Amino acid sequence: MLAAGAAAPLSVGLARAAEAKKQFKITGLETDLLRVPAAPYSDAIHDFGGDGGGVVLRLKTDAGITGWAYSSFGMIAGGPRVVQTILEREIKPVVIGQDPAFPKKIRAELWRALEYQGVQGVTQFAMSAVDIAVWDILGKAAGMPVYKMLGAMRDRMPAYAMCGWYRQNDTDHSEYKRTIHETLEAGYRAFKVKVGRYGLDDDVERIEVGFKTAGKGIRIMVDANQAFDRVEALRRGRVYQQLGCYWYEEPIVPYDHEGYAELAAALDMRVACGENEYNKHGFMDLLLKKGADVVQPDNRRAGGPTEWMEIAAIADGFEVEVASHGGGAVNLNILCAMPNAIYMESGGKQKMVDGEVLAPEEPGMSSEPAAEFIAKHKVG
Ligand SMILES: [Mg+2]
Repeated sequence: MLAAGAAAPLSVGLARAAEAKKQFKITGLETDLLRVPAAPYSDAIHDFGGDGGGVVLRLKTDAGITGWAYSSFGMIAGGPRVVQTILEREIKPVVIGQDPAFPKKIRAELWRALEYQGVQGVTQFAMSAVDIAVWDILGKAAGMPVYKMLGAMRDRMPAYAMCGWYRQNDTDHSEYKRTIHETLEAGYRAFKVKVGRYGLDDDVERIEVGFKTAGKGIRIMVDANQAFDRVEALRRGRVYQQLGCYWYEEPIVPYDHEGYAELAAALDMRVACGENEYNKHGFMDLLLKKGADVVQPDNRRAGGPTEWMEIAAIADGFEVEVASHGGGAVNLNILCAMPNAIYMESGGKQKMVDGEVLAPEEPGMSSEPAAEFIAKHKVG
């Protein structure tokens, strides 16, 4: 230990400098594992419901501020536990002691710590959650919603709802129609319909029921969830286009960027994809190949706000629009800071006016799950 007389002036000076710079540190990382089973629902290739769950992340700081994130899985029983393990065992030692005002430094160090386990995949789910929690801390520290800290473009976003899941025992579309009515009553002016699980005739029926139930002025997007090869994607796409659908989402496997480019060139309707891309490098390749008219980052795979802002800037440089895969307060905070954002998928719990969802005004990300939700579903 240094003699008090020598150390005191230096440490006092550093303390004052730290106070002036408002430095603070991440001092703890906590997680909760949740199991959230739901009634079964499907798209063209996935069956969701029974095995849903997620991981809650809390980053504690010495300023008494806690940053929150929640990474959810609609399926795969073991996935959330893997993300929890990565957070607790690999990420915790890297983030403890970090200044949350350095999200790009934290991202770079996490990348180096995790790349051997995967530059794509669930390691990215864990990194994204950290970035969301870090921005939650920063917004709370600044007393501002994150969309303003990122440099706001708007304070509300058009949102569409996911209406047309494949549901069991709904051959007369009564459940589908009821969902459309509820969606329009909630204030939406656009919704999405799943296609591609069965033949083209079934797709056409689902789309026509949608338009007929919704009436004039309502937009319908279609989402095939990778169900087709290139030839079938173009054949069906021409029909969806003729029916007046607004965009054609993920018709083929996500890594076939050349195939996406062929489709985007052949069709007049928007081709949308990107929910299965990891970070800006995936989007960069897609955009260089002219594979999308709308890119759809997912805030588990694409990264957190730090990465999303870079993805949006790259897309904007290519004159390509952004719509989020998924929706809620976190996506809303990010999208409102993007000049080229056009839609959020579902409005979450935020208030809606004229088909648009109002941005949260609470400081931070508004990413904290309800305490009752955590208590009800916590399993570890
Ligand atoms: Mg999709």
